[in-house]
Amino acid sequence: MRSSEPFPPTRAEAWVRLREFLSVATHYGAQRNQVVAGHPHVSRLSPAVRYRLVSEAEILETVLAAHPFPAVEKFVQEVVWRTYWKGWLELRPGVWQDYREQVARLRVSAPENTLARVAEITSGRSGVAIMDRFVRELVGTGYLHNHARMWFASFWIHSERLPWALGADFFLRHLLDADPASNTLSWRWVAGLQTKGKTYLVRRSNLEKYADPAWRDDLAGLDRLDDAHVSAAIVEDTADLSIGPLNDWPGRPEAATGRCGLWLHSDDLSVETSRLAELRPTSCRAFLSGRRDASPGPSPLSESYLRGAMHDAVTRAGAHFGCPADLEHTETLPAAMVDWAQRDRLNSVVTLAPFVGPVREALPAIRSALLAVGINLVLVRRPYDTALFPLARGGYFGFWERAQVWLKGAEPFKV
Ligand SMILES: Cc1cc2nc3c(=O)[nH]c(=O)nc-3n(C[C@H](O)[C@H](O)[C@H](O)COP(=O)(O)OP(=O)(O)OC[C@H]3O[C@@H](n4cnc5c(N)ncnc54)[C@H](O)[C@@H]3O)c2cc1C
Repeated sequence: MRSSEPFPPTRAEAWVRLREFLSVATHYGAQRNQVVAGHPHVSRLSPAVRYRLVSEAEILETVLAAHPFPAVEKFVQEVVWRTYWKGWLELRPGVWQDYREQVARLRVSAPENTLARVAEITSGRSGVAIMDRFVRELVGTGYLHNHARMWFASFWIHSERLPWALGADFFLRHLLDADPASNTLSWRWVAGLQTKGKTYLVRRSNLEKYADPAWRDDLAGLDRLDDAHVSAAIVEDTADLSIGPLNDWPGRPEAATGRCGLWLHSDDLSVETSRLAELRPTSCRAFLSGRRDASPGPSPLSESYLRGAMHDAVTRAGAHFGCPADLEHTETLPAAMVDWAQRDRLNSVVTLAPFVGPVREALPAIRSALLAVGINLVLVRRPYDTALFPLARGGYFGFWERAQVWLKGAEPFKV
């Protein structure tokens, strides 16, 4: 049985894990719902994919080179779910905005008893032993199995009747794979906001069927999840769901003329495998942002994972591009980028397009700070994202159909 410890945050280790997973990939469809210690039935690749230490395209290509499509269809479908959520949010950035506003508002103005119950549950004192076990695992390792995430989110929303956004915030701060799209939209899905009228209800019988039998030593509170007990909470949607066009960044690496700097950010840490691989940058730079407010932020475990992943990306970029590459700590990202660009006398800064989430939110300030000193910011999107994101206008199954057509025509995948 594999260890439940996260593997080190490097691209090399992600590939080791991916290759190791190939031997069980064909059992994935039948076994992925089992939530057992060590999680031997799933890939555990999500923290690496989150930061693109390995990309979705690389995973799909590797798995499909090793096995015929029908044998690994379920796994391929799950990786494509990730892409669907990312595309869905790219087309509806208002949903992320709404989530952020809800969290900020609820942290200061939710009723006292709500915040007290949130504190109890998130410190592993809910009184439902299996949910407390999940909290300990999440906080202790930064990982939870998908089924456990669904049970916990449903317990939070439909049994405890707590605001979904505060639960999503708890996950986002502790998951090593914390992803604005997958996390926000999965919580919304459990709450019944993604597919109107369809909620996900946690049921004792389902827990008993799929959770590790060894965990049944403590049945405390399980009766609260008896099948007839939990009913759907009515959750109001406050988000702006209107669909916009995919952000138009026609950026090409060639647009980076003169001395250019390569900015590595946390949404894509394998820049040397992208269309930017042929660039001849003057220098590469990644920035780790310090926090300026007192609100709870990412857990130390998550911060350490990201720091490790960024360090790995910078080391690889330095070796690939043969230029100075550094990781800098800063509390003011736009000013730090201007400093870097001016010190290295750059004409442009090039980067892979970030997704809806914290890096994207920082873009307008970065762009205008650079423009103010005459430096152009060039954003380049990977062909995989350009092709698939616009297909996420409707539900998943339409997306899946169209994604398969694209995937079949894209051999070898254009990463
Ligand atoms: C409430 C809730 C919150 C979630 N929050 C996140 C999050 O912050 N970040 C995140 O990456 N995933 C999130 N997920 C999706 C899913 O749980 C994880 O991607 C998966 O458990 C990661 O483990 P794995 O790598 O072993 O997955 P595997 O089962 O091995 O799947 C392989 C890859 O496919 C993708 N994938 C699998 N299942 C899903 C899914 N249901 N939705 C989207 N992509 C999927 C992931 O990239 C994963 O690495 C959430 C799900 C729920 C129900």
